[in-house]
Amino acid sequence: MAKNKGARIVITLECTQCRIVPATNKRSLGCFRYTSTKNRRNTTSRLEMKKFCPHCNTHSLFKELK
Ligand SMILES: [Zn+2]
Repeated sequence: MAKNKGARIVITLECTQCRIVPATNKRSLGCFRYTSTKNRRNTTSRLEMKKFCPHCNTHSLFKELK
């Protein structure tokens, strides 16, 4: 069985570059997001990581949503 003891939670990472550029049309509303998991015991702060964004077509910083 999966050993999910509650310390690992699902988080959403959102591209920061997509957020800065204002959405000019409805299709770009909301930017690219990754879903991931983290251990909230080890990572109490907001998670940040560099990932590839197909929306920006480049690597950019993704920040955890709250
Ligand atoms: Zn992006």
